[in-house]
Amino acid sequence: MVVFVINIYINSQHNNYKAYFILYKRYFFLKNTMPENKVKKYFSLIEAWAWCEICTEMVNIMVDKDEIKAGLKMGIYTKEHKHVNPYPDPEDVDEVSGQEHTVYLYIDENYDITGVRSFFGDSPSMSDVGGTSIEPGGEVKIPIVVKEVQPMSVQLGMISMDEFKLLKVCDGMNSVEQCAEVMQKSVDIVEEMLDKLRKKGLVKVIKRTSE
Ligand SMILES: [Zn+2]
Repeated sequence: MVVFVINIYINSQHNNYKAYFILYKRYFFLKNTMPENKVKKYFSLIEAWAWCEICTEMVNIMVDKDEIKAGLKMGIYTKEHKHVNPYPDPEDVDEVSGQEHTVYLYIDENYDITGVRSFFGDSPSMSDVGGTSIEPGGEVKIPIVVKEVQPMSVQLGMISMDEFKLLKVCDGMNSVEQCAEVMQKSVDIVEEMLDKLRKKGLVKVIKRTSE
């Protein structure tokens, strides 16, 4: 789309290359200033840049494709990466990123990152789930797996492949909205799927009011 627009622009400007470069540079400047998770895929590994909310920096992580494939089976692979911010802000008294913390990357079968969570300790505290998008006093719904399901259940037709994937995302770190984001599906569809899984006794959805 952008290339198309630029082409029209060039044609209308009779190959005015100077204008073309300004447009081109502006586009890439905008793209690069957004903290967007990125993946470079190589033959046997991927190089990921994930936005860590604690470092407020992109964190660079190499992950072996074999590791992802083994972890994926049919679901979503979760890569855990402990790190410290090598350049914490010395001026900031509230700076905590110099202490060890963890990012969780959700990686799909195309080796793309579909979600990132940052937290201190073993898992994010319940009050962190939902991120900054929740208004004070708003309700956060957090689905949690209550019964582990083997990949065999998909082959036996007991649950669908998508439901199996969703169960992997119901790790207590994601609100319903974040599950939808990681699954790259709409919230409505994910709520419907959760309803089915809840009736099968596989998940429970806990509700929390944000402070
Ligand atoms: Zn970090």
